[in-house]
Amino acid sequence: MPFSLYIHLPYCLVKCPYCDFNAYAAKSWPEEQYMEALAAELRHYASQPPWAGQPIATIYFGGGTPSLFAPQSFARFLARVGELAPIAEDAEITLEADPATVTREKLSGYRALGINRLSVGVQSFHPQLLKTLGRIHTPEDAHDTLTWARAAGFTNLSMDVIFAVPGQTMTMLTDDLTLAHDHALEHLSTYSLTYEEHTPFFAMRKKGTLRPVEEDEEVAMYSLIQERCVAAGYRHYEISSFARPGFSARHNANYWNGTSYLSLGAGAHSFSAASEWGTRWSNERLPRRYMEKALAHGNATTTSETLTQAQAMGEFVFLNLRQLHGLAPAAFVERFQVDFAEQFPHVTDLLAEGLLIADSGRITLSPQGLLLADTLFASFV
Ligand code: SF4
Repeated sequence: MPFSLYIHLPYCLVKCPYCDFNAYAAKSWPEEQYMEALAAELRHYASQPPWAGQPIATIYFGGGTPSLFAPQSFARFLARVGELAPIAEDAEITLEADPATVTREKLSGYRALGINRLSVGVQSFHPQLLKTLGRIHTPEDAHDTLTWARAAGFTNLSMDVIFAVPGQTMTMLTDDLTLAHDHALEHLSTYSLTYEEHTPFFAMRKKGTLRPVEEDEEVAMYSLIQERCVAAGYRHYEISSFARPGFSARHNANYWNGTSYLSLGAGAHSFSAASEWGTRWSNERLPRRYMEKALAHGNATTTSETLTQAQAMGEFVFLNLRQLHGLAPAAFVERFQVDFAEQFPHVTDLLAEGLLIADSGRITLSPQGLLLADTLFASFV
């Protein structure tokens, strides 16, 4: 059973005020020691079921800001991975890059060691929006990163676009999409700005010093993204994701399809599909404590959970529904030996209300359902 490998690199130059990821602002970071901790953790898992001897189908370096780390560090780590587990020949290997942290040489270095997909955290090409978001790169940095990545030989480029940012207009979003499309990227990930608890943006919103975009405008922005991306030749294949044919993110698709994934690093979450309904666990969040534990014991797990059948059924439904090809009730029955409509009788109402569509043996979100996806998903768990 092939699996996916995720590696979390938790350092950033500054912490963006809207971000609730496990990421820490740092002027310097213990690059070598952190990579050693990752290698120790991988050594620990690589000899155990269900990972031992299984091929790695995809690798994803996420963060934080992985592009703070030098190509040589990834080269050493990937060499260790290759010694401990077979990497599939056609493995998708992605690295998240922040435009404030790359150079032409760095990008060439990443490509030369086999990283074949770059996910660039552009967010916007508008200086005003970048400033609101607390991003430290300029629009020029973003353009340079995409241009240099192409020149370095990346043929699978993805870019993050954020919308519903205070001060953003439909024209600004149209500009961002036009500029993104000018770079002929293979993939776009689009996110609406959210106000997560314990972030400065959450507090500012509460105090009234930051006014969120009105809900109907946010909906209009999402519709604009869908129209413009589809018109530019992208396939809308997941709530937030658009890809040119053949360039859907394989790593993410493995999460949504219930494939096992091993995640290494501070705060990383893993999932094994080997037990009946699946098991998941997570690591120590603080990088220093993570490194201490991983280096001393080979694992830094702090929580672990065996899923119940009810949990597994709910997750199966929403992980399938978030993909635009939707859910096959027959696959649900095959997996759980339970009838889908009997388990979730409210589906009849959701179909009648036009939030879900049943067609050709599959159930998908309607355009209206897409806008209410989070509420819909909550009704299955
Ligand atoms: S660069 Fe990314 S991970 Fe780091 S603080 Fe900003 S949004 Fe979070």
